[in-house]
Amino acid sequence: MRSQRRVAFCTNCGSQVSGGASFCSHCGAAQPRPTNPQYSDFLDGLSDRAACILCYIPVFGVIPAIVFLATHRFRGNVRVRFNAFQAVYLFVAWLIVSSAMPVLMLTVPGWGLEHLFVLVLKLVLFCCWIYLLVKAAQEQEVRLPVIGDLAARSTSEQL
Ligand SMILES: [Zn+2]
Repeated sequence: MRSQRRVAFCTNCGSQVSGGASFCSHCGAAQPRPTNPQYSDFLDGLSDRAACILCYIPVFGVIPAIVFLATHRFRGNVRVRFNAFQAVYLFVAWLIVSSAMPVLMLTVPGWGLEHLFVLVLKLVLFCCWIYLLVKAAQEQEVRLPVIGDLAARSTSEQL
């Protein structure tokens, strides 16, 4: 990916400058350096499909999802933004189930069924991640009930 050097032009005289050069060979003017080139190169080289797949890595996919939502690279990309939002909301659901629900259920006397219920919910959410990951790899868009509707609304609001 990095072997292909970008063609740049001098900001002062307009003659061609070899990629990455600090000074123009023609007039000697200092050339602006792109900020954080490796980071932007990584995002530039990322396809929509790869971005969607990254979002749906179970539990940890929320990190690239937030990065994609925050950066300019996918600002106008409805598909990536929808999938990123869906991944974030899925993570929120996971957080609620795995942290808030056991606390709530401690206060309710039961027969251990509530633990089974939490376990089943976590399993369902985990299966959603795997399912979405596979569908993203096949370039098919899946809209989950509730979470997908929220994501669709967020996508249209943010654009
Ligand atoms: Zn020049």
